[in-house]
Amino acid sequence: MEYLNKLESFDKEVFDACNLELQRQQHNIELIASENIVSEGVLFAAGSVLTNKYAEGYPGHRYYGGCQYVDIVENIARERAKKVFGAEYANVQPHSGANANLAAFCAMVKPGDTIMGMDLASGGHLSHGTKFNISGKHFNAVGYSVDPTTSRLDYDNILAIAKECQPRMIVFGASAYPRAIDFKRCREVCDEVGAYMMVDMAHIAGLVAAGCHESPVPYADIVTTTTHKTMRGPRGGLILCKEEYGKQVDKAVFPGTQGGPLMHIIAAKAVMLGEALKPEYKTYQQQIVKNASVLANALIDNGFRLLTGGTDNHLMLMDLRTSGITGQELEKRLDAVHITVNKNAIPRDPQPSSITSGIRIGTPAVTARGFKEDEMLMIAKWIRGVVDDFEGNQERISKEVQELCAKYPIYEH
Ligand SMILES: *Cc1c(COP(=O)(O)O)cnc(C)c1O
Repeated sequence: MEYLNKLESFDKEVFDACNLELQRQQHNIELIASENIVSEGVLFAAGSVLTNKYAEGYPGHRYYGGCQYVDIVENIARERAKKVFGAEYANVQPHSGANANLAAFCAMVKPGDTIMGMDLASGGHLSHGTKFNISGKHFNAVGYSVDPTTSRLDYDNILAIAKECQPRMIVFGASAYPRAIDFKRCREVCDEVGAYMMVDMAHIAGLVAAGCHESPVPYADIVTTTTHKTMRGPRGGLILCKEEYGKQVDKAVFPGTQGGPLMHIIAAKAVMLGEALKPEYKTYQQQIVKNASVLANALIDNGFRLLTGGTDNHLMLMDLRTSGITGQELEKRLDAVHITVNKNAIPRDPQPSSITSGIRIGTPAVTARGFKEDEMLMIAKWIRGVVDDFEGNQERISKEVQELCAKYPIYEH
């Protein structure tokens, strides 16, 4: 890329590594459900001179001089975020999804309060109360899981647990859950026990923005997200909430849990949110869902099992327990034929988390580069091929994958 090539004259060592990464992205089929390929507009903003600026505080109320232009940028980002999601209030400063969650907890509950979140093993996120994370250390975190037979959320069970532990806040949202979440039902559960409702829509935010998944915004007290997954923006976080919580959310982000905002990344978020307001974005998100559904059906047709039997969103979870291969081994084999996925524990996985019996597959990145239904059918066959006879098929599949990738450049210039 022209833009990357300029780096070469400044630092050859770093350029070489970045260039190798660009080539890897170009020549591999990216099926990691949390990744995407951003527009050049987003790249340019993220690489802009706004990285030079300190801007602690919020537009109009900064602790540094010279913030008049970055104020414009942050206001654009905030206004667009509100417009995209129909939200009353937006904070665009969180450096990441985990930071957005920490700030949301600090805004809504006190250390030692009881919170509920989906177990990591059922598809929840580390930052929803696991013992390895600050959310599980500073709050009394109680987990809920999915139904053991259907692998779906069981709202009656969540309510039963909530009645027992009386949480101040319940967190909904997941990193590996292939089905739609019923936010109206989540609200009812929260209301029955008098808990705040928090939704972390990190994975599905792009779908929500385009109306391809029900929005949590009308129901939840506070909504967090990443901006780099289905949303297709720079790596970062975002918080949406009711107007009444706006001030406490702002305080929880800065000075509560962060210092100076990354203004170049906020500019890139603004560019992405501008894209999200255009009709092409809706078409893109619809194609993500279409591709996921076609790929899920094709995997089933090729004899694989999927948790919950399919998908409503952008991702699916292969249940490999009857396929004679572990998640770790399939990840490794697919890597060897230039297809990137991640192994993923399935609920009550018989294998340790370093091995697993599952693979998580998502369609946001391949859809961004232009893959459609036909390519999904090819991917399903290739996955079948590496499971059945890796030695015999490796060379052929690797070549076919490379040919397909060459037809769909991730960047034009
Ligand atoms: C990815 C993810 C996050 C964390 O985002 P980071 O930017 O990596 O901190 C938080 N919550 C959920 C549900 C996620 O899937």
